[in-house]
Amino acid sequence: MLIEHLQSKLRAIEAQSLTRFLREAESPTAPHQTVRGADGLPRELLMFCSNDYLGLAAHPRLAEALAEGARLYGGGSGASPLVSGHSVAHRRVTDTLADWFSPHIPKARALGFCTGYMANLAVVTALGDVETEIFSETLNHASLIDGSRLARARTTRYGHADVAGLRTLLAASTAKVKLIVTDAVFSMDGDIAPLPALLALAEEFDAWLIVDDAHGFGVLGRKGRGSLEHFDLCSERLILVGTLGKAAGLAGAFVVAHETITEYLLQAARNYIFSTASPPAVEHALLTSFDLIESEVGQQRREHLKALQLQLAQGIKAILKRHRGLPWRLAPSETPVRPLIVGGNAEVMQLAARLEREGLRVPGIRPPTVAVGEARLRITLCATHTVADVDRLLAALETAAADMERAAA
Ligand SMILES: *Cc1c(COP(=O)(O)O)cnc(C)c1O
Repeated sequence: MLIEHLQSKLRAIEAQSLTRFLREAESPTAPHQTVRGADGLPRELLMFCSNDYLGLAAHPRLAEALAEGARLYGGGSGASPLVSGHSVAHRRVTDTLADWFSPHIPKARALGFCTGYMANLAVVTALGDVETEIFSETLNHASLIDGSRLARARTTRYGHADVAGLRTLLAASTAKVKLIVTDAVFSMDGDIAPLPALLALAEEFDAWLIVDDAHGFGVLGRKGRGSLEHFDLCSERLILVGTLGKAAGLAGAFVVAHETITEYLLQAARNYIFSTASPPAVEHALLTSFDLIESEVGQQRREHLKALQLQLAQGIKAILKRHRGLPWRLAPSETPVRPLIVGGNAEVMQLAARLEREGLRVPGIRPPTVAVGEARLRITLCATHTVADVDRLLAALETAAADMERAAA
């Protein structure tokens, strides 16, 4: 019965063009990657889909550092952090992060997690107790939404970047503790949250601001420290979550906040307490990743990335001008996440399939990840893309636009 029940649900997913597929990579994460297609055959594709924004995932120094970490510490950590999974390597990572963010968060301390998903669940559930009201931005990442579903707190949603709307909600709240929760860079849109205005509201209404900087860490700010550096924010009210599997090129996540908050998370966050600590070799390699992020290498890569962002945006704008008959729309973005909104689910999947036939992989993103009618290509750029790579994408989009416009006419 259960099998039939699920089969009918799967058919419904398929009928809406919402079926998702796994693919297998055979080579390191990089713009030119060997991937097995649906036919099982390996093929080199030009990828515009990873979140490896600085192109560090395949950096030889990281592979080297991982190998060195494995020689020093072996494989797994063997236990949760409070039992015996915590190591010198873990502590060095959190010390570095606390130091990086001390100009932005007074008395900063950091706590490490295996994934950003876990870190978000931990922060939102541990801080979101019955006396708390959570103010959650509409376009927040699934992990923040799940965190507020699991939390005992009441959750109120506010509109995308709607500072005035949030102000009204905060003014009406009688909760003892108020938590504003937001992505810093919206993962499917690429735009940046109005963090200075949100922080001003937090100050005004005695609230805390949880900032999920999954897509800003490593990318934004001169030294790559992310959205807090980008806006030059400083406040005890900031609670920063960052992930280390994206621009940092490895895996893991962290929370940086006032030391009392991180101490409370250590004592109370179930996702921290009851989950095995990350492999120490990964932590060891993260120190090299941090070096690369803040060094000349990181600075040059961030500059190249900005140039590619401009090239892509100008190229797409020119295509949209030439093909006004198409309902396509370029979302505003100041980051390497650049969505091209196509509209329908089937249309976006056809476009993604067509690009893939031409050797380009750009993922189509559909509801429920984005709103109905806003299915999109989520183009992401990496510092290891070349100008020629972006030109190739633009040329493929141009011919697809011309064909689709003709077909619609
Ligand atoms: C990817 C992502 C996460 C989850 O981080 P993982 O380390 O991949 O689990 C959290 N928040 C946002 C906004 C993300 O994009």
